[in-house]
Amino acid sequence: MKYALVTGGSRGIGRAVCIKLAQMGYQVIINYASNTEEAEKTLEMIKSAGQNGETLQFDISNGKQTREAIDTWMQAHPDDYIEILVNNAGIRHDNILALMPEEDWDSVLSITLKGFYNVTQPILQPMIRHKYGRIINMASVSGLKGLPGQCNYSAAKGGIIAASKALAQEVARKNITVNAVAPGFIKTDMVKGLDEDSLKKTIPANRFGTPEEVAELVGFLASPAAGYITGEVISINGGLYT
Ligand code: NAP
Repeated sequence: MKYALVTGGSRGIGRAVCIKLAQMGYQVIINYASNTEEAEKTLEMIKSAGQNGETLQFDISNGKQTREAIDTWMQAHPDDYIEILVNNAGIRHDNILALMPEEDWDSVLSITLKGFYNVTQPILQPMIRHKYGRIINMASVSGLKGLPGQCNYSAAKGGIIAASKALAQEVARKNITVNAVAPGFIKTDMVKGLDEDSLKKTIPANRFGTPEEVAELVGFLASPAAGYITGEVISINGGLYT
């Protein structure tokens, strides 16, 4: 059995990534925060694709909860390890900094950056022992360009890009690659409420992307074929920003 863990696999980009990795032959562990119904739907879709998986609820920003969930999984699978980790879960709480409450700064940074540490740290050791692994971190155009109204989100996604580059150099000799993916506007719950008609005029491709398009890129980075690509941040944004 080959295992992959996708954080935030219950909806949006994470769900599409779960399905892609299942199609590639992985048993997928679908992490989510609270939406059990949607996580179960992802699992059903994986089963329809002829694969199996499991849901695993934990709040990635909570170190104790995350450690307990991963330890429990590892104890139940003593002969297996997670060879693909997709750090996908994320939230946004947009506001100009002048009006941003401290809790909106903290929650966005905590889920993205503390979440990256909480999940990646325990999963890295078995990858190092097995001398093979793929880590893909979901960044954003916001982390490359910086977007007004998103100081917290830009800081979090910029941080995840820097962490990806640093970790890539720590583990490259162990045949583990670490890359970041930086989507532009992708049609998910996260962009509900945005004015798609006016925003798409700012995108050279004149449309939002789909979760499946992002999942194809993640699938390639997760594949053995991408073994010499590491420490990169790859944009997928319809030409919005390069
Ligand atoms: P989404 O549809 O809002 O889904 C968010 C996912 O993250 C859900 O599965 C949610 O679980 C999970 N999640 C949130 N907080 C969590 C926590 N504390 N612990 C565990 N899971 C948590 O978002 P999306 O648009 O697919 O975005 C996925 C990633 O892509 C994010 O990192 C986002 O920043 C990034 N991104 C998105 C876009 C875009 O345009 N959509 C653009 C650039 C980057 P529940 O279902 O249980 O709530």
